[in-house]
Amino acid sequence: MSIDRRRFVNAALTAATGALVPVRYLSAQPAGNGAIPGEIAARSGSGRSVTLTASAVKDFRASLRGELLWAGESGYDSARQLWNGSFDRHPALIARCAGTADVIRAVQFARSHGLLTAVRGGGHSFSGQSECDGGLVVDLSPMKGIRVDPVRRQAAAQPGVLLGELDWETQAFGLATTLGTIPNTGIAGLTLGGGLGRLARKYGLACDNLRSADVVTADGRLLHASEQENPDLFWGLRGGGGNFGIVTRFDYLLHPVGPRVLAGDRIYTFRHARSVLTAVAELADHAPDEMYFDAYAIRAPNLALPGFAVGFEACYCGELREGERLLEPLKKLGKPLFDSLSAKTYLAAQGVGAKNPAYPAGRSYYTKSGFLVGVSTGLIDEIVRRSEDAPRAVRALDFWQGLGGAAGRVKPDATAFWNRQANYSLDLEAAWDGRSRNAVNVKAARALWSELEPFTRGYYTNLESGTDEQRLRTTYGDNYPRLVQLKDKYDPTNFFRLNANIKPASV
Ligand SMILES: Cc1cc2nc3c(=O)[nH]c(=O)nc-3n(C[C@H](O)[C@H](O)[C@H](O)COP(=O)(O)OP(=O)(O)OC[C@H]3O[C@@H](n4cnc5c(N)ncnc54)[C@H](O)[C@@H]3O)c2cc1C
Repeated sequence: MSIDRRRFVNAALTAATGALVPVRYLSAQPAGNGAIPGEIAARSGSGRSVTLTASAVKDFRASLRGELLWAGESGYDSARQLWNGSFDRHPALIARCAGTADVIRAVQFARSHGLLTAVRGGGHSFSGQSECDGGLVVDLSPMKGIRVDPVRRQAAAQPGVLLGELDWETQAFGLATTLGTIPNTGIAGLTLGGGLGRLARKYGLACDNLRSADVVTADGRLLHASEQENPDLFWGLRGGGGNFGIVTRFDYLLHPVGPRVLAGDRIYTFRHARSVLTAVAELADHAPDEMYFDAYAIRAPNLALPGFAVGFEACYCGELREGERLLEPLKKLGKPLFDSLSAKTYLAAQGVGAKNPAYPAGRSYYTKSGFLVGVSTGLIDEIVRRSEDAPRAVRALDFWQGLGGAAGRVKPDATAFWNRQANYSLDLEAAWDGRSRNAVNVKAARALWSELEPFTRGYYTNLESGTDEQRLRTTYGDNYPRLVQLKDKYDPTNFFRLNANIKPASV
């Protein structure tokens, strides 16, 4: 999903190529006055009240290299902010992990007190499940190390890395792996849930490019997972989300990409909606793997249009002249209102370093998603009809090729990510300011989605919270029973429950 061309200045890129250690990690000294309140009220995974004594919290704090924060402590309020402003949660404790040792200690502490536990990588989920009320947040965002091996075409990255940061480091060597489309998304949540993006049709999903991972399991052990070691766990990590443990290191395969690609958007007035969406779908269906399309109906306030506009984004990572030739048929759509489709660096196509945030932090966001096998005329008619009278909060409907091609040639049971037949993701995006209209806007977005959902089969767990077990079973298809077996083996008490949750058989 990448349907607003206003980009943002990426957060400072602090990770250093050549060293898999955080360049800047936090000292063990508390940020505030350090006084631990008498006791801290918390809650367990099942919602029970838990009281944490001052001495337990003190010992926990002393065991960490990173900070431990609680309500009233300086830094707590900024540390609990999520990108999605819909959520205003107050964890009992936030462990800002400086390394794997901190992650192990955080898991051990949470286990010994039965605490509800949330895991945060980049903190960029729509679902808000990387934050919790009354529990412990294992905050991995300080873990920013990246190491690129240009000779072996591999990169290792820690879980606090954002995808713009990884792209930045790998592009220094003309390399990249498939990541998502918005640079301030975390690589951790993205990769574990699948990882759809502009390179997926050429090189597979992000999870298909994962070569190995270090994982802290629910019993506080550190395991290495790869095709050779703990292959069952490795299978589950590639699409099964955060269900099986906390990943503290991701090892990716890299590919030659760029430095220049043909990429950008063309936006037209809404009266061309049907012809634009149809032309893009026809071209996309037969495009080579190097091509990526995202076709959308979108509110475009920066173009001073009152309602929706229609448009598409393309990204071609092959030979530039061939890309231009392939896009030639779209010239028949006439003169766009906005046109940024041109040769540019892959980093620019990924939005790294762009001036305005496409999705500014702190607004309230809601999304629905569903996988498509092809785009029918009926669906295009429905998108056009629903955009015409969409509720104010709905800002875009789009179908995009974050999968298909090489990602579609992976067998459905080769990784936990099952939806290999799908070649588009259909998404609805809603956004608004403040939290007072959360319920009204979510209800309106769901009502609109109910008209589109029948066209889809399965959904992308990274774009929704996945609380509906039946929907989750549909999306994981024949892989679901194997995921439950894995959950029984690695997390039988459902310690990692704040995710698109695969319930162990015993819970
Ligand atoms: C604006 C926007 C655009 C997006 N575009 C795309 C896109 O183009 N392609 C795509 O594939 N996805 C996209 N996504 C979805 C994105 O992949 C998910 O939101 C993903 O969860 C973000 O990862 P994060 O680490 O930032 O999330 P967080 O909020 O930190 O974590 C989300 C969940 O992931 C799990 N998790 C995080 N880190 C770890 C870890 N180290 N170990 C174990 N579990 C962990 C936890 O269950 C957590 O609840 C987009 C999301 C947004 C908000």
